Amino acid sequence: MAYEVTATRKRPQLFDNLVGQEFVVSTIKNAIEQKRIAHAYLFSGPRGVGKTSSARILARALNCETGPTPVPCGVCPNCKEITRGNSVDVIEIDGASNTSVNDIRQIKDEVLFPPQTSRYKIYIIDEVHMLSTSAFNALLKTIEEPPAYIIFIFATTEPQKVPATIRSRCQQFHFQLIDLHTIKACLAEAAEEMEVTADDDALFWIAKESTGSMRDAYTLFDQVLSFSNDHITLAQISDKLGLVGIEQITEIVEFLLSGSNDKALTSVQRLLDNGISIEQCIKDFTQFFRSLLLMKEGITEEAILGIQTDRIPLVVRGAYTKEQLEAALEMFLKLYRDIRFSLNPRFELELSISRLASLPYLASATELVRKLASLKEDLLSGKVNPASAATPQSRQGVAQQRFSEPAPVHRLAEQVPVNPVPQPPSIQEQSTVKPIEKQEIPLRRPFTKSDVPALVAKLSKTPILSQVALSIKEVSQENNSLKLTFSTGFCRDTAQENIELLGLLIKEISDFTGKITVLCAEAEQPMHKEVEDPVLNSIASLFRGELL
Ligand SMILES: [Zn+2]
Repeated sequence: MAYEVTATRKRPQLFDNLVGQEFVVSTIKNAIEQKRIAHAYLFSGPRGVGKTSSARILARALNCETGPTPVPCGVCPNCKEITRGNSVDVIEIDGASNTSVNDIRQIKDEVLFPPQTSRYKIYIIDEVHMLSTSAFNALLKTIEEPPAYIIFIFATTEPQKVPATIRSRCQQFHFQLIDLHTIKACLAEAAEEMEVTADDDALFWIAKESTGSMRDAYTLFDQVLSFSNDHITLAQISDKLGLVGIEQITEIVEFLLSGSNDKALTSVQRLLDNGISIEQCIKDFTQFFRSLLLMKEGITEEAILGIQTDRIPLVVRGAYTKEQLEAALEMFLKLYRDIRFSLNPRFELELSISRLASLPYLASATELVRKLASLKEDLLSGKVNPASAATPQSRQGVAQQRFSEPAPVHRLAEQVPVNPVPQPPSIQEQSTVKPIEKQEIPLRRPFTKSDVPALVAKLSKTPILSQVALSIKEVSQENNSLKLTFSTGFCRDTAQENIELLGLLIKEISDFTGKITVLCAEAEQPMHKEVEDPVLNSIASLFRGELL
């Protein structure tokens, strides 16, 4: 007997054999039983879920000699002809290659002739959304007032591309993706029929990869079967198709968790050297962290996780927090987008693996603030003694585990300002609690007379303020306010309009951050707007009076 691909061999011949589309099947069967037969059907849904098969079963159900019946006999000449695809009254048209209006006109002419040997003349148009607009218009007239013996069955993966005028004249049925367990069961059945041994995890992987499409699953099954020598195993699949097995990812993650980053990176090198593509590597890591995240959220259904939970050790499952898993998933998703423009995708992957090592220490800003607050509380209440809280050894241990590169969340956390812990009198009296050493802040440099030439030079080099540079007549400082007096009102106004920039330039040559007031020599009226900075009152007191 000639070789037949599994998808064809397992093509359902009855509604009852159609898996995963229970709603569609029961509705159509009821309609046929009650003799409520529409003139146009639209089957929509993803590829490989049974749309065309359903169209053929429906054609048989309507034209079977015992029918119309929900259970076509399969043995009468009509049933046989439809199954073989040579029934003169069931015409299959591929919408993708018959898109023109002429193709549809031919149908319009043909529908005038009644069926030759059957009850109905049935047109099955696959990929109907590919028809041109004029073809749809030509078709519309026929669908509106078809002869009683004409039935259209349209199938499409993109129903939104079918004009509403057509859709509204059809009975619509939406086909769904088939769930993983159903596909796996069908694959197991196919393997049994072919007297092939198939490991459970291997079939799980094929079912997962087919993402809900039965046809894809059977096609992949055939491919795997071709190199499997009558025993399908996941190891063979990983090897032949260049995949990173879950065991390999788990091993790498375990190395990282135990601090053996060198071993983890060596394992990645080995994977790549074995011919696994970088894209595939990233995909598999992404899938792994997605599954861990979903498991963290309490999802246990393997069909959703896409992974068999018992294959991930508990130590890995419990190693990360939700935020850390989110960060890892985000990193790999971004990595996949970025490698297209990368100097070297391999380096990018290595960098990400290296960053994964610090994942367990990643904390969100919220978490850090919360911890700091509780630490502050402990310090104030004397629960923690800063002098003995950490021994030199443990500090060193922590230091060794520091991140080579802080992840984004961490950088954010570092920006959270930490207020010095105030020392209430009661604590100062306790001899056990030593005051926390304040970090030395370098002394700030005030704006002095000697800075004026530098300011003039800076202003001259700044296009928008160059014209006011030589117009400075007087610089004076009173309290926390720096007064710049310009010789003309125009220069004063220009300076006022760019006062923030002026403030920045002054900051560049000194640390003055007080009020800046611009004045005009002719009228000693300050402008309305002032730049205010609350810091450094003391510096202002250093130079009261005129600078020039
Ligand atoms: Zn029949």
